[in-house]
Amino acid sequence: MAKRGFRESLSLPGLLQAIRDCFEKVPDEKARCSIPLADHLMSGLAVFGLKYPSLLQFDRDQNDEIIRSNLTSLYGIEQAPCDTYLRQRLDEVDPQYLRKAYTRLFSALQRGKGLEGFDYFDGYYLLSIDGTGYFSSSEVHCEQCCEKHHRDGRTTYYHQLLGAVLVNPDCREVFPLAPEPILKQDGARKNDCERNAAKRLLKDVRREHPHMKFIVIEDGLASNAPHIRLLHELDYRYILGAKASDHAFLFDWIANTPSTAHFETTDEQGVTHRFRYHNGAPLNDSNFELSVNFLEYWEEKPNGKTQHFSWVTDISIKESNLMKLMRGGRARWKIENETFNTLKNQGYHFEHNFGHGYQHLSTVMVHLMMLAFLIDQIQLRCCRLFNEALESAQSKGRLWQKVRGLFQHYLIPEWEALYRGIANGLKPTTIPFNSS
Ligand SMILES: [Zn+2]
Repeated sequence: MAKRGFRESLSLPGLLQAIRDCFEKVPDEKARCSIPLADHLMSGLAVFGLKYPSLLQFDRDQNDEIIRSNLTSLYGIEQAPCDTYLRQRLDEVDPQYLRKAYTRLFSALQRGKGLEGFDYFDGYYLLSIDGTGYFSSSEVHCEQCCEKHHRDGRTTYYHQLLGAVLVNPDCREVFPLAPEPILKQDGARKNDCERNAAKRLLKDVRREHPHMKFIVIEDGLASNAPHIRLLHELDYRYILGAKASDHAFLFDWIANTPSTAHFETTDEQGVTHRFRYHNGAPLNDSNFELSVNFLEYWEEKPNGKTQHFSWVTDISIKESNLMKLMRGGRARWKIENETFNTLKNQGYHFEHNFGHGYQHLSTVMVHLMMLAFLIDQIQLRCCRLFNEALESAQSKGRLWQKVRGLFQHYLIPEWEALYRGIANGLKPTTIPFNSS
């Protein structure tokens, strides 16, 4: 898609304003006597937007007049709260209220045609779902922590979430929907926890996006009958990992069914793609009536390296869509590689303890981080000036560094001036104050 100029809704000021509007609607019982809750939430968002390594450093910086002024001009924060107060107020926020911010950005993205060409298969979007941990401690804990009790009497407290991210194997961007926290009450076993969180997530996503056509892609844990029935019920299509070790009955059935089809092709790079598939196979002996389509794939590189995958899907498999389905199923990894790993290793400090709180702080901070990440992904896809600044900085890491450096040391009147300065390699002192 053609990238738009800076003043439209998909540039940073428009996206931040949309989020601010949502934050202002979060119930704020202390509104009369203190800094508005929206300023607290925007401050948290700024920590991740500016890729600060800690709240403490952000707090120290806020005593600086330049930074206070920039928080107002760039993030609309009239009064920035101190670190302790910020944690206290955010701890009280029910994370459910933050969901609206995701749908708001998502509809801006849709309206602005940012999702044009991002669908993958007959107008369907690939929705990759997977869990990850982001906090673990033997001491620090809150009301929402999951607990693991060790034999020697020790307890580990931890937080995990289930992420849901729109991906496309041919696009570099990924777009997270609201993640679902995995909570203490979700069950004692890891599998129960993920399954219960997945139920909430799938229902929430369907309620918030009633008309979107989704193909859910997940790992082997998801290819069980109750989950597949839930996907059917909520009108999701699916491509789910299915390993021979978990599905011995299905793999035997496939091996012993003469109508199982085979296909092999070698591409221009000399890579051989070998498939085995069957439409309408029983998932397992206890769910014989639950019919799935089975797809197995071997990739053989000229250097001898071989990879093997297998899936079940409700999409009818034909020789003509084998490659498409295989690439769709493999795109599941983008939630790990390009979402969780980016959050962990590329500036967002995902596993860093930004403060734990007693009720919701940990979950609220994760939401603010995910929203900052979503904003960056939308800019990457839709904002020409952001991409010019990124190109000039040569890497995202260097771009974040430059943004934060300028933010800390120079009065910046607006985002456009900041990005233009970076894009054009201007010295900070010559960043145009009024670029209109
Ligand atoms: Zn906790």
